[in-house]
Amino acid sequence: MSLLAIDKLAVRYGSEAAVNGLSFALEAGESVGLVGESGSGKSQTALAILGLLPATASVGGSVQFDGTELLGAHERALDRLRATRIAMVFQDPMQALNPYLTIGAQLGRILVRHDLAVGRAARDRVIAMLERVGLPDAPRQARAFPHELSGGMRQRVMIASALLCAPELLIADEPTTALDVTVQAQVLDLLEELREDTALLLITHDLGVVAGRCERMVVLERGRVVEQGATRDVFAAPTHAHTKALLRAAPRVDASDVPACEAGATVLAIDGAEVRYRVDGRQRLHAVRGVDLEVRKGETVAVVGESGSGKSSLVRSALGLVPATAGRVVLSGHALPPDINDRSLAARRGMQLVFQDPAGSLNPQLRVVDIVGEPIAVHEPGANGAARRERVTRMLARTGLAAEFLERFPHELSGGQAQRVAIARALVLEPEVLVCDEAVAALDGTVREQVLELLGKIQRDSGLAIVFITHDLDVARSISHRVAVMYLGEIVEHATTAALFGRPQHPYTQALLTAIPVPDPQNPGGKASLAGEIPSALTPPPGCAFHPRCPHARERCHSEAPQALDISGSRVRCHFAGNLQ
Ligand code: SF4
Repeated sequence: MSLLAIDKLAVRYGSEAAVNGLSFALEAGESVGLVGESGSGKSQTALAILGLLPATASVGGSVQFDGTELLGAHERALDRLRATRIAMVFQDPMQALNPYLTIGAQLGRILVRHDLAVGRAARDRVIAMLERVGLPDAPRQARAFPHELSGGMRQRVMIASALLCAPELLIADEPTTALDVTVQAQVLDLLEELREDTALLLITHDLGVVAGRCERMVVLERGRVVEQGATRDVFAAPTHAHTKALLRAAPRVDASDVPACEAGATVLAIDGAEVRYRVDGRQRLHAVRGVDLEVRKGETVAVVGESGSGKSSLVRSALGLVPATAGRVVLSGHALPPDINDRSLAARRGMQLVFQDPAGSLNPQLRVVDIVGEPIAVHEPGANGAARRERVTRMLARTGLAAEFLERFPHELSGGQAQRVAIARALVLEPEVLVCDEAVAALDGTVREQVLELLGKIQRDSGLAIVFITHDLDVARSISHRVAVMYLGEIVEHATTAALFGRPQHPYTQALLTAIPVPDPQNPGGKASLAGEIPSALTPPPGCAFHPRCPHARERCHSEAPQALDISGSRVRCHFAGNLQ
C-alpha cells in the first residue's frame, strides 16, 4: 500500500476544471516532484490532499493516505492528520505565519493543540527544532515576531513548524520561489537534511530543483498528468511535448549561446552613483556606493544580485525616481538633473521603465489603447486620437499583440499579454534606453522565454539599449551582453556575459552560479556554498563587505575595502582576484 495514492482526482470551480483526472502515488520515505507552470493544478492538488480547498470547489476521485480516504473525511479527523502526519510548507511564509504571535508561541501552540507537549517541555522542544533548522540564537528568535525575520529565516521557521510533529509526509509548495538563489540552496539543503524518513511531495515550476532533490517526478499540464517516472529517466528521455518545452525553458549556467552584440556609442553613462536613504529620521542606509555603469546602443547590460544588493535603487536613481546623493547620469551626451521633476520632457522620454508586476503596473480602469496611448498624449499633446490609435496599434503589433487587444482591460489579459502591453507602453515614445526591473520575474518559464525573445528582437530592429535588473542569473545569461554583479551597493564583478559565466572571478559570483539548480540529475547544481544572508545596508561589514560570507576571506579582508582590478577583461572587486583557488 502506498503512503499516498491519488486516483482520478478532479477539482472544478463551476465549469472550470482545475484538476482533471489526476493519478499518482507516493511511497513512504520517497521524494516526488510535482512539476508544472502556474494553473497546471499543482497547488490545487496539494490543497485537495490536505482538505483545504474552498467551499466553492467540487471535488471528485480519491485521495488515500496510508489506506484512509481523505476526500469527504470529517474535518476533525483531517485536522488531526494535518501537522501530525501530513505537514505543509507554503511559498509565502509571511502569509502562513500569524503576524500577532511570536515564533515561539505559534510553534508551541502546535504541540499543545495536538497534546504532544505543554509548558516548559513545549518551549524546549520548539527551541531545539529552531536550532535544528539553523536559526542563529534560537531562544531570542523564538521571542521575535515574523516581520522581524528575513524571508529565509521565516522559511526556516515554516520548515520547523512543519517538522515539529515528525510527519510521515511533507508537502512543500514552491518553498523557495520567493527566496534569493543562495538562500534557496540553503533551504533546500535543510529540507533534505531534516526530513529523514519523511516522504516529500515537492511542488515546483523549477525543473532544476526537481533534478537535484527528487527521486521521481510527475509533470502536470492543465490539470492532467502528462508524464511521470524516475527523475533521471524523464530528464534523459522526455516523451511528452510539454515536458520537453519545460526542459528547454529550464535554467542553465554555462557560457554557450550567450547573445552576440555589436554595440554602438554609449547611450547611458552612470558615474559614481551614490544613493542614501534616511531611516527613522536619522540613520543613513547606504544603498548604492560609488557605482559606474555604461550602456551602449544595441546592448543589454544585466544588473544582478540578491534582494538588498542595491540594483533597483541604482536604476531608479538613474531614472530620477529616487534622488542620487552623488554622481552623474549622462543620457546621449546630456547630463541629467538627479530628480525626475527637474528633467525635461525629452530627457524623460529617452529612458523608460518596465516593472515586475505587469498587472499592478497597468491602470485597471483603462483599456489597452489608452494605457499604451497615454505617454503619447502627455508628450505629444498635438497628436490627434486617430494618429494615436494608429501608433498604438503598430506598437502592439511589434510586441506580438493583434488589434483585438486594443479594447481590452488589464484583467482580460494573461500575465504574458499584460507584460507585452507594459513593454508597448514603455516603447511607444521610442526611448533610447529601456530599463526592465525584474520584468519577467512574475512569468512562467515558456512565457518568460517569449518575452525575452521579444525584447531581443525589438533591440535588434531598433538598436535600443536595455538595462535589465534581475535576481535570476539564467535570465541574465539569456538576454544580456554584459553583466554587473552587485553586492551591498557595489558592483563586485563586471564582465561580458560569456566571461562571467565561463570564468566567474569574484567569490560571490562563483557562489551565485553554484547555487543555481540546473536540470541535470547527474550534476544538478543548487549547492549552498555561502552561509547566512546579505547583511543590512544600515550596518555594512567593514573592509570587504562580503567578508563575513566569503569562503576565501583572510585577515586583510576584515579591514581593507578592495579596489576593482582588471582580470582577463573582467572588473573584479576582490584583493585576491585571479589568485583564488
Ligand atoms: Fe573574499 Fe577577501 Fe576577496 Fe572580499 S576581498 S571577496 S572577502 S577574498
